[in-house]
Amino acid sequence: MRTENVLAVRALLLKRFGRLRFRTEKDAVGELVKTILSQNTSDITSLRAFANLKRRFKDWESLRRSGLPSIRREIKIAGLSNIKAPRIKGALNEIEERRGSLDLGFLEGMSLRDGYSFLRSIKGIGPKTAAIVLLFSFGKPIMPVDTHIFRVMKRLGLIGPKMNREQAQEYLTSVSPEHAIREFHVHLIMLGRQVCAAREPKCQSCNLKALCKYYGDKHGRRRVKDRKKRI
Ligand code: SF4
Repeated sequence: MRTENVLAVRALLLKRFGRLRFRTEKDAVGELVKTILSQNTSDITSLRAFANLKRRFKDWESLRRSGLPSIRREIKIAGLSNIKAPRIKGALNEIEERRGSLDLGFLEGMSLRDGYSFLRSIKGIGPKTAAIVLLFSFGKPIMPVDTHIFRVMKRLGLIGPKMNREQAQEYLTSVSPEHAIREFHVHLIMLGRQVCAAREPKCQSCNLKALCKYYGDKHGRRRVKDRKKRI
């Protein structure tokens, strides 16, 4: 039943936001760096920090060899630079040590499970970062779950209240349409940003309300209150 509902949500989002075009991000290491920078900040600031790194270092190898203060300086705008700078440098060092070069191209030929395990085994690479690299750089069918998707899917009642993000990612990967997983991922984020916002979801203008647990519960409670008032 839940799988059917996930597909119904996918269809309604497609109706609302339309088709999107994607190009595969060839620079997988860059995608990894970009995703670490995006943790706990907006796209605008993380993309500015990413652009600063690209301007300052001629390639990822020279970033890897540079000192932490210069990395921190370039990414300060994205916040948490004391955490993100060592996380980026540490991840690049680990890839270099284990693979002999800063190249993630070998992930292309790996199964989704093995590629995911490799990335997750690197210190500082969490479930979302690993999934984003696999999906956007290698077209692997995995659904990265960020804060928006986690919130939207919980409100819709498509993931249980006790599921953590990694469990949600695993579950949504198994029920999302493989051929359209990138589009579905981005549509869900668009809904989370534009309609199903954290503080005040704009339920009245949401075309998913007929399927939504949060909306149904709220609506139901209102009806009960209205009845009580009338009595
Ligand atoms: S009906 Fe409201 S809570 Fe449900 S998905 Fe839409 S905006 Fe979010």
